[in-house]
Parts: sequence; C-alpha cells; structure tokens
Amino acid sequence: MVSIDLTGKVALIAGVQNSYSLGWAAAKKVLEAGASCIFSYQGERNQPVLEKLTAEYGAQILLLEQCDVSVDADLDRLFAAIDAKGIQLDYLMHAIAFTPRETQENPFLETSRDGWRIALDISAYSLVALSGRAAKLMNDNGSIVALTYFASEKVVPKYNVMGVAKAALEASARYLAYDLGTRGIRVNCVSPGPMRTVAAKSIPGFSQMMDKTASVAAMKKNASFDDVGNMCLFLFSPMSNATTGETIYVDGGYSVMGMSFES
Ligand code: NAP
Repeated sequence: MVSIDLTGKVALIAGVQNSYSLGWAAAKKVLEAGASCIFSYQGERNQPVLEKLTAEYGAQILLLEQCDVSVDADLDRLFAAIDAKGIQLDYLMHAIAFTPRETQENPFLETSRDGWRIALDISAYSLVALSGRAAKLMNDNGSIVALTYFASEKVVPKYNVMGVAKAALEASARYLAYDLGTRGIRVNCVSPGPMRTVAAKSIPGFSQMMDKTASVAAMKKNASFDDVGNMCLFLFSPMSNATTGETIYVDGGYSVMGMSFES
C-alpha cells in the first residue's frame, strides 16, 4: 500500500473556523501525514478554538497568527512572523470565502458594487495576495490548494456573486500555476459539493442543495469531509507532481451529470 508521508514539510492553512471547516478537513490530513502547520485566522475569537483543535498535535503546530485577508497590513504581518521564525513553507491551503448576506438574499441582478467588491476581494483576490507572499518563503516543488464550488461554471440559484468569485478564484489558480510552474510549485482548486459548514449554512436553501446534489450525483451521495481532506492531501503530495491549474471535483459525480430522472 502506498502511503503519503509529509514529514519535514510545512503547510500554511488559512481559513479554519471550527472542526466542521473544510480547511480543518485538509489540515487534519496534512498533520496526520506528518507535516507541521501554521494556521492563520480572521479574528481574535478564532484563536481559542484553534488552540483547542490543534492541541493534540503538539510541536507540529508552529504558529497561530491573526490575518484578515482583506487587510494588506495583516497579510504582511503574517508572513513577517513566519519569516522571523526562519520557516520555509511547502504548502498553502486557501479555505476562505465571504459575501455580504444581501448578495445571496436578493437576485443577482441587484448585486451592489460593494457586494461585488467584498465577495471578490475576500474570496478570490485573497488567493493571489496569499500566494504572492507565500511564494517568497516557499521551497520549490511546493503546492497551493484552494476550495471552490460548481457555481463558478453553472448557475446555482442564490449562490449569485459568490459564483462569480469562484470563477475568478479558479482563473486565478490557473494564472498562478503559470507564474509558479517553473519552480515546480503547483496551484489547484478542489471543488466539493455542498458540505454542512458554518459558511454554507448561511446560503439560503442550503439543505435543499445538499439533498438535490445527492439525488442527482452519479454516485447518489454527497462527498464527506474525509473525501475533501484526502483530495487536498493528494494535491499537496508528490503523487500529483504534474497536475497544476486544475479544478478537481469531489462531489460524488454531480458535476458530470447533464440530466437526471426521478428514480
Ligand atoms: P467555514 O468553516 O466558515 O470557513 C470559511 C473561513 O473563511 C472561516 O474561517 C472565515 O473566518 C474565513 N474568512 C472569511 N472572511 C475572512 C477574511 N476576511 N480573512 C480571513 N479569513 C476569512 O466554511 P467552509 O465551508 O469550510 O469554507 C471554506 C472554503 O470552502 C470556502 O472557500 C468555501 O467557499 C469553500 N466551499 C465550501 C463548500 C460548502 O458547501 N461548505 C462547498 C464548496 C466550497 P471566520 O471564522 O472568522 O468567519
């Protein structure tokens, strides 16, 4: 049996709110594979949660650092703190998204300039902002993984401007893959189906999205947190050494369906 060993590697994980966060699903796999982790979180209230979550991993946890990705000074401080400890990175996990509530409650047609700006800044530009800074401290042959969603390519009612932000995120991953390719640094997106996390529960009609996905998917089921974490682990590992700029679905085969019949 082939197992993935990331001992000696260092991952920066951005965007863990609690044990149900997809960022945590990925972080757990990376930690179990032996890598060390740095966690960045948006606000001070996240720190005690992260301390509790990560306690069992002891010395593998190198740093917990506050960073609101919409604030350049926070981003600079995060990477200065990593650099000050003499840490070289191997992996970056981007698990961050935000859009103002009204952008998903109102029709897309009514998206405000501010709603658009905030959604795309926090959910897409942040990948560029984090990757640019991370690349300066990253060993060659590293890997960057971001989480996206199917609404980037097809209309998912209520997802609205977040679908536009996910399209921008996926396109950004491809351009970053090009810029970093000659250093062997890969940039990919993982696209899970709907998963019951805090961010997702605020999407109107989320439970219906979960039921619908499971009923249409080729495998007639939703993906699990473990499934998403394993795909991230694969993309960090050398097993995906020649894969970059891709969006890889972990959705039980929902995205490949063109039509479904009630069974
Ligand atoms: P989550 O647990 O709520 O994680 C989202 C994270 O983004 C939170 O930790 C949140 O911080 C952070 N964040 C928001 N604004 C930020 C900012 N300005 N600076 C720094 N961090 C910020 O939800 P999740 O579902 O796991 O989301 C992770 C990723 O998976 C997102 O990109 C999401 O779009 C994607 N995804 C989710 C699903 C799903 O159905 N759940 C499906 C496909 C893709 P706070 O804790 O401070 O709010």
